[in-house]
Amino acid sequence: MKLSNFVRKIRNVCPSDCFACEEACAKKMGNLGSVINANQVRKAGVYKAITCLQCRKPECKDACPNDAIVQDEENGIVRVIQENCIGCETCIEACPHQNMLFDSNARMALKCDLCGGAPECVSACPYGALEFFRGDNIRSYLSDEDFLSPGTRACAGCPGELIYRFSQRILGSNTVFFGCPGCMTILMTGHETMAGSRLPYVSCLFTNVISTMTGTYRYYRHIGKEANLVAYIGDGCLSDIEFQALSAAAMRKEKLIVLCYDNEGYQNTGNQMSSTTAFGSLTTTSPVGGELHGKDRDSKYMPLIMVAHDISYVATASPAYLEDYARKLTKAMNVKDGMSYIHILTPCPTGWGFPIDKSIDVGKLAVETNYFPLWEYEQGVLRLTYKINTPQPIGDYTKLIGRYRHMNEDELQQLQRLVDKRFNKLGFYPQSLQQ
Ligand code: SF4
Ligand code: SF4
Repeated sequence: MKLSNFVRKIRNVCPSDCFACEEACAKKMGNLGSVINANQVRKAGVYKAITCLQCRKPECKDACPNDAIVQDEENGIVRVIQENCIGCETCIEACPHQNMLFDSNARMALKCDLCGGAPECVSACPYGALEFFRGDNIRSYLSDEDFLSPGTRACAGCPGELIYRFSQRILGSNTVFFGCPGCMTILMTGHETMAGSRLPYVSCLFTNVISTMTGTYRYYRHIGKEANLVAYIGDGCLSDIEFQALSAAAMRKEKLIVLCYDNEGYQNTGNQMSSTTAFGSLTTTSPVGGELHGKDRDSKYMPLIMVAHDISYVATASPAYLEDYARKLTKAMNVKDGMSYIHILTPCPTGWGFPIDKSIDVGKLAVETNYFPLWEYEQGVLRLTYKINTPQPIGDYTKLIGRYRHMNEDELQQLQRLVDKRFNKLGFYPQSLQQ
């Protein structure tokens, strides 16, 4: 399955005198001129596409009266055949994203063709501001069917919904979800007139999700049926209330997939702290004022606790790195024996206090500061799946988030030490610091 591949801006770092991307593109395009404008790149928001999207059904191609625009069946790239272009500008009007350009001297349409699959602007940028977003890599993991109806009532900007929708499309129809009261319940069950999922969902109590799954797995095995039995549960349930049942099922090597969406608190009941809430966080049960400075201890690192159970597969994941997550969930699905556990940090705009359009930025910075490193553990080996060469200081992450706003320099340094200590613990496992 192909598409949608494009170059996007991933960092707001462009100095005012840099034109390296534009120059690299101009060089590639020869005498036709660049299809990238560095000043527009400077103005673009983070994660915004700065090139043509290589649409799956390109309207520019459909509009062209002279078959001058073609799409490569293999890689989805849409390009102009210069000899066929008659300069009518129909494609310029047709592109809904204003991505077709026109060279009025040559009287010819121009567009980005991703340099055939290795965009030169990305490699030319000296500041790492650009990324080649490989949508077709991600889509290759997904079924076409979207099992979650539109109009869900999760909070605006919630990446927990993105992960749930995405997980369903990876897992497919032979899947039964299990959960308990939490932020995602209204998605999984639907509620009154609200939207819901078309995949079966077993609604459990906080204390019996994993044991209900175990019973279902044993019954399915008895009748010779196979299905993906998947928990989608928040950190409050898994790291606190349900932990005993989870640990026991892990030790028994039950064949279950457990996905923990970690929004670091009991967010649907009003932002109370959980075991995974980070040091310093302001929550309704770790307030700030007088002697109180938010949560006064480190968080519980659930994924390493699951490694200690030596189950079949453990991974961490982020909605900001969807291809990494898709690969990991696919691995979890293919585990033949025993439990798989994926711990997904899902930044919560409502409870953590950041704008609803910043969830992915926060998720990305969690990884880039080593606050939430991405790794996987299988067959006794733990390895990083996304290596950060120069981690950013933790202050770059906390400054985006309201729950840390009260922290002074000493407290930030303490949080930095905790982050470093946790990251160094990964080094105890073979191959952990290799990519
Ligand atoms: S030029 Fe416009 S319509 Fe054509 S593929 Fe690119 S974004 Fe789509
Ligand atoms: S080369 Fe990189 S830093 Fe320079 S303008 Fe282009 S995107 Fe920005």
